[in-house]
Order: sequence, then structure tokens, then C-alpha cells
Amino acid sequence: MARTDQHDNGAKEQPFWTRAQQLEKQAPCQVDCPNSGNVRGWLGIIAQRRKHGLSLEQAYDKAWEELVQLNPFPATIGRICPHPCETHCTREGKDGAVSINALERFLGDWAIDRKLSLPLLDGQRYAESIGVIGSGPAGLSFAYQMARRGYSVTLYEKHDQPGGMLRHAIPDYRLPRKLVEAEIQRVLELRISVVNGLELGKDISLEELRKRHSLLFLGMGAQGARRLGIQGESGPGIIPGIVYLRQRKLGMKTGLGSKVVIIGGGNTAIDAARSARREGASVTVLYRRSRQEMPAAAHEVDDAIIEGVQFTFGAVPCKVLRDGNVMTGVEYQRKQAGERDETYQLSADSMIVAISQQPDWHGLNLARDGSKWLLTEEDGKLADDIWAGGDDRGPGIASRSVAHGRLAAEAAHAQLRGEPRPLSRPAPPTVDTGKIKTDYYEGRVRGVYPRRPDEQWLEQPDLEIEQTISSEQACKEADRCLSCGLCFDCYQCVMYCNAGGFSPVDDAAPGRYYALALDACEGCGKCIELCPCGYLEAREGPPQGANSSSASGSRRSG
Ligand SMILES: Cc1cc2nc3c(=O)[nH]c(=O)nc-3n(C[C@H](O)[C@H](O)[C@H](O)COP(=O)(O)OP(=O)(O)OC[C@H]3O[C@@H](n4cnc5c(N)ncnc54)[C@H](O)[C@@H]3O)c2cc1C
Ligand code: SF4
Ligand code: SF4
Ligand code: SF4
Repeated sequence: MARTDQHDNGAKEQPFWTRAQQLEKQAPCQVDCPNSGNVRGWLGIIAQRRKHGLSLEQAYDKAWEELVQLNPFPATIGRICPHPCETHCTREGKDGAVSINALERFLGDWAIDRKLSLPLLDGQRYAESIGVIGSGPAGLSFAYQMARRGYSVTLYEKHDQPGGMLRHAIPDYRLPRKLVEAEIQRVLELRISVVNGLELGKDISLEELRKRHSLLFLGMGAQGARRLGIQGESGPGIIPGIVYLRQRKLGMKTGLGSKVVIIGGGNTAIDAARSARREGASVTVLYRRSRQEMPAAAHEVDDAIIEGVQFTFGAVPCKVLRDGNVMTGVEYQRKQAGERDETYQLSADSMIVAISQQPDWHGLNLARDGSKWLLTEEDGKLADDIWAGGDDRGPGIASRSVAHGRLAAEAAHAQLRGEPRPLSRPAPPTVDTGKIKTDYYEGRVRGVYPRRPDEQWLEQPDLEIEQTISSEQACKEADRCLSCGLCFDCYQCVMYCNAGGFSPVDDAAPGRYYALALDACEGCGKCIELCPCGYLEAREGPPQGANSSSASGSRRSG
């Protein structure tokens, strides 16, 4: 379709065209994932495997390799991530979001079973030495990304084993330690040295580490438990949530009584409550706001209720009751609608305080402008030779920590090599989901995690409740992805373009199947109308390079 624009002064402009163009866009799942996971990319490898001559096993291996470019812990994150990626999945409006988290977990377990190794990048070795303080998901992610780029990395950890909250807090019935250990071990195999039992700020100063390394990353998390600050809190019977969970993870005696009150409404509170039920205690959670306002994942709260945990909402503890030194209960206030605060007493012999964590800055002289968190640039830069990420920059979830570590590594590497830091590059556009033709795709029931029957949960307290999906389910679930914003070779455009504008490329790969010759396009818009995934769209303007094609692939001859 060509038109000729005319100016008021009568001068004629160049011909103006509407053309079809191929334009890859970000899918909603990627936009919502804290780590910008290329979900569509790794699902596409499985779903489109036959087009590329891959067996199912080869496709799983390759999909895992794609996934771990950004996240080296898919078995772990595939279990604990609250999967915001699924919230706006375009499939949700049709027959339920793609079970991305379940697939991530499947591939993670697959790789552990097959003993797959993490992929290095370009085989370079660099002279700079990197120090990482803290070995939670943030520190490990940074260490992984730097090691695979060719730096020698040393990890300093105050505890006697690496892993942070993944290894020392999240209970086994949600995250078995065997899997976390396997995924950490695989990262450490990339020539990363670990110094356990060394605490920055106590055993070694920041200045000493700065002299030892070219660049440091601080991934120290938020390991300090906050206190309630109420009367009677100091004394026996009171235990911080993360201390209690750590004792459970290490198989230590917790000294918990039989009537336990938990204070808080986040992940730590619910994990502590469910763990205490596993020790046989009766458990009541006091939370100061409503159920809807609880920061803990809603399904965790549902499961805690199934396990017999009691909840009292709108309850603010004000005093620990004691007989001499022995804890006998807790006094709390509860606001009744429109009434003054009422005071109640709850009998209890132990109290787990899980109101929140904060970083422990003891012995560390870091400029924070009065904030309790580290204030960095967007990519984690704190100073030329110090970067930071994870919960020491504010509370978050594990996949955000992995993202912080990765983004900091990408930026620190660029800086060390004298290149521009990557966050300054513009983000690709996001697909307009209104343009995805969901009716084109066949209806398929969403695959979900199998779960052990609930009567077994407390009987076998450390066994995982949710199970990994089978290979058959994984394959079916990957097929449900609509490939939002990227070509998946449905052939519609090729078939209906009267001008023969589309031709197959020689080096086809997921997302790259056809080249569109701009000089052939007549601008009828048929292909745009038909493309189910929103990859094709209209471009207006004077033709540029009339003989060029917008796909980078070479056209297949013949
Ligand atoms: C009970 C609980 C349940 C959770 N559940 C979930 C969940 O279901 N899903 C989810 O996504 N997230 C969950 N989270 C949050 C998630 O675990 C954290 O966001 C994540 O672990 C933070 O990673 P990080 O690397 O910043 O810090 P951390 O995991 O806290 O690791 C920090 C590491 O640094 C070490 N360290 C600290 N100070 C020093 C020092 N001075 N010198 C040397 N080493 C030091 C610590 O020992 C630790 O190993 C949960 C957290 C808790 C506490
Ligand atoms: S890390 Fe979480 S949000 Fe990102 S793809 Fe995996 S499950 Fe989804
Ligand atoms: S359908 Fe696929 S590409 Fe689209 S949002 Fe869902 S998982 Fe992502
Ligand atoms: S119509 Fe089909 S083959 Fe053509 S670009 Fe869209 S997804 Fe790819």
C-alpha cells in the first residue's frame, strides 16, 4: 500500500508505505519475573523440538541450559518462587496460566539426575580476582556469573556451609536440602574457592578484603532478627524465627515447648508455625493485620490451617507473661471494629518472634545515609570496587536475589573490561496481549503439581509435600505456551501472503523461521491479522533499504 503525502506548500514528499515487520517483543512472563527469565525461550525449545530434530531428552538438556543462563538454581527456585511470572501469563484468560514454576522445577530436577554441568561463557581467563561476601542466592549468583566469564572467585561465608536462607531457613518439606546442596555444588565446581566460617566485620575487615581482591560483592542478606520490644521479651522461652528454623534445618534440639505462639505474618512466621506443628506443638499465630494483608504466600497459609495452625488476626502482643522466669503466656491487644482495644491473654510456654529481619552492620563501616539497607545504583554498584545485591538492599524473594547477583555481575564485568554497563541499554518492547489471538490455540487443561495426601504431611514431617511433574506432563505443559511476541512457525503468514514475502531461513531456531522481504510486502496487512502471537506488526514510513529484510537470518535458497 503506497501513498504520497503533500505539504501545504505543494511540495511532494517521498512515497509513504505501510509494511509488515517482524518484531520480537518481551512476553508478560518475562516482564513479571524478577530475574527477567527467558521463559518463552526455554519452553519453546521443548515445544518446537521436532522442528529442530531434537529428541525429548536433548530438548530438556538444551532448555535447562537456556534457563541457567540467568538462574543457576532452577530446582530450588522452581520450588519456592511465588512465580509472579504466571500472574499475567496470556494463557490465564483462556484455560489457566502455563505452570512455569512447575516446569522450571522439572528441568532443575532433570539436570540434577543427569548430572549436567553449568555452561561456561567464552573460555576467557581474566587476571582480576573477585571476592564475594555471603553465599546466599545473591552471592552465589554473582559468583557463578563472574566465574563463568573467566574470573577467579573466592566466596567468604560466616557459617560453616554456603547457601544462606536456602540452606539454613526454608524447611525441608518445601525445599529438600539435598537439592539445594546439589545446585550449590554445581556452581562451586566452576573453580570458585569457598572460605567458610569467616565473618566480614569480625574476622576480617572490608579494607583487608579490598586489598586482596580487585572487586567485591556484598550479598550478606538480612540475617538479624528484629525484636518486639515488649515487657518480658528477654528471658527463656523466646526464640527468633530464623534461629529456630536454622536449628531445625541443622537437626539441632530446639527446646520448643508444647504450646507455641508465633508473632508475625510473613514466610518466616508460617514456616516456623508449620515446623512447630511438626514437633508436635499446638500453635497459634498472632498477626497484627488481616489475613489478606499477610505477606506470606496465601497457599502456605491454607496449608498451615490444614495442619492445625490457629490464627488470630488484628492482634498486637504487648507483654510476655511469666511465673518467675518461666513463660506462661502472652498478653495482646485486639481492636474490635469501632471499639477501643481489648486486651486478651493466651497461654503459651514458647514464643517465636518472626516479625522481620534486617542486615547486621556490626563492625562494617559502610555509608548508608541513615538507611538500614545498602543504597546502591540500580545495577548494584556501591563504589568502583564494591557491588551489592539481595536482601541487604531490602527484603525480597530468592529470584530477586539471583537477579541482583546476575545484573551486578554483568555490570561489573562490563566495567572491568571498559565497556558500557548493560542497564543503560533500552529494554525491548512488551507484547500487547490484546493482539494475541488466543482462539487460534487449542484448549488444554493446565498441568499442576501432584501433592502428597494431607494426612501424611505431619506423619512424615520432612518429606516434600509437592511433587515434581512427570516428563509427560512437562511436555504437554510446554506445548501450552502461546509464544507471546515471538514466531513459533505456525506457517500462517507464509500460507496467506499473496506476494510471497516470507521465505524460510537456513539457520532456523526457535523464534527464527522466516525472513520477510520488505520489497515484496504489498502492505495488505493479512499476515498481521493472522499471526497468532503478536510477532508481526505494521510499520509505517518511507521504505529504508528497499531490498533488505527485517529478519537477520539468511534466506534459504530454492
Ligand atoms: C524462613 C524464610 C522463608 C523464605 N521463603 C521464601 C520463599 O518461599 N520463596 C522465596 O523466593 N524467598 C523466600 N525467602 C526469602 C529468601 O530466602 C531471601 O530473599 C534470600 O535468601 C536472600 O538472599 P541473599 O543472598 O540476599 O541473602 P541470604 O540468603 O540471607 O544469604 C546471606 C549469606 O551471607 C552470609 N553473611 C551474612 N553476613 C556475613 C558476614 N558479615 N560475613 C560473611 N558472611 C555473611 C550469611 O551467613 C548467609 O549465608 C524466605 C526467607 C526466609 C527467612
Ligand atoms: S524465577 Fe520465579 S518468576 Fe521467574 S520464571 Fe521462575 S518461577 Fe517465574
Ligand atoms: S503463554 Fe508462554 S510466552 Fe505467553 S506469557 Fe504465558 S508462558 Fe509467557
Ligand atoms: S504467522 Fe506464524 S509463522 Fe508467521 S510470524 Fe506469526 S507465528 Fe511466525
